[in-house]
Amino acid sequence: MGLIRVEQATCLGCGCGCDDVAVRIDGGVIVDLTPPCPLARQWFGDGSAGDRVLVLGRPAEAAAAIAEAARVLAGARGRVLVGIGPDLSSQAQREAVAIADLLGAAVDTATSTTAAAGLLAAQRRGRATATLGEIRNRADVVLFWAVDPGIRYPRYLSRYALDPAGTHVPEGRRGRTVISASVGGARGPAGADLSLDLSAADEIPALSVMRGTVAGNPLGELSGALQGAAEVARRLMQARYAVIVHDGEPADESGPAQRAEGLVALAQALNGPTRAALSTLRAGGNRSGAEAVLTSQTGYPMAVDYSTGVPRYAPTVRGLDRLGRGGFQAALLVGRTDHLSAQSRSALGGIATVVIGPRATATAGARVAIDTGVAGIHEAGTAYRMDEVPVPLRSPLRGARPAAGTLRELLSALRSEAGPVSA
Ligand code: SF4
Repeated sequence: MGLIRVEQATCLGCGCGCDDVAVRIDGGVIVDLTPPCPLARQWFGDGSAGDRVLVLGRPAEAAAAIAEAARVLAGARGRVLVGIGPDLSSQAQREAVAIADLLGAAVDTATSTTAAAGLLAAQRRGRATATLGEIRNRADVVLFWAVDPGIRYPRYLSRYALDPAGTHVPEGRRGRTVISASVGGARGPAGADLSLDLSAADEIPALSVMRGTVAGNPLGELSGALQGAAEVARRLMQARYAVIVHDGEPADESGPAQRAEGLVALAQALNGPTRAALSTLRAGGNRSGAEAVLTSQTGYPMAVDYSTGVPRYAPTVRGLDRLGRGGFQAALLVGRTDHLSAQSRSALGGIATVVIGPRATATAGARVAIDTGVAGIHEAGTAYRMDEVPVPLRSPLRGARPAAGTLRELLSALRSEAGPVSA
């Protein structure tokens, strides 16, 4: 195998879902990427993926493992949790949801804990948002709220929000006003035109002051920090198109639950005096795709329960940590599992667990583990960017077992094993 260059691969290293990545492969190993995004290098790695199949920790044939998985899961029907992890195509996610439906299972995603505040706020209030392309072409005032995208979303600034020339912002960065709001230890980007420094305690009052300013409400006497918030609100009102950028999945989950609600409400209020959108940064691995697939198949983006035979929304009992609270006899984890908390991991030892996904065999305590390829590296299909725009996935490397096909085989085996769902 000689040197191969695959153009326009899609990276799922973060939710930007950049589809302009060129991958150089030598001897079946990824040796270089352009553009040189550090997170993309980490996500693609050298392209190696596990190719093992284990049943009770011992090597097995894939067909025997799928038969054992079907037997275990069918035996626990009605008491199964299906967890959809990162690095699956949406085609594979669809198979997982179909399995949950057949098993009368609860089904949840890797981000139903971290992203839930934003999802629930949007369900309560609606949401003024925009595609990344619209932000690139129109945003002339950009407020970064407690996030510097350069760290976890490395090309967000250069591709969308700051540097590029847009159809309505032809001067690029020079045509944009950048406002950096830091909250406690969560810093906004450096080099902003206007900065706002808030303590954690001042954050929610500041968002209220900003919304009140936009609404034209009398605000009385304000502290220095809150006066700064009012000033930022006035600058946003002068924008032709304002964008507020925040992290939908903060790494330390330190922000208050009301932050998302306050930002959703502020973006909505700004659509009175000007146009405005909220841009929610989302992590990679097609996490947004899991919500899109669940929504299209059940009507809900997370925390769905099929135990009554129809999809039921149970957002107050979301998350995979509930494995540790009992009530489940088996779990099917699809996709990567390295996001699981220590609590969830220890709970896996007490129930029959089937893991299907990239490096599944590294998950301790699984009854059945089947390694598959990584969506976008070994498996083509569709994934969703952070702005919920679907992008095609290429498969620069071949050879690894496909996750979508493996889950389809499991679904077929379950249909034989469990029979049709009774009314
Ligand atoms: S910004 Fe994100 S999606 Fe784009 S190349 Fe870097 S890691 Fe990949």
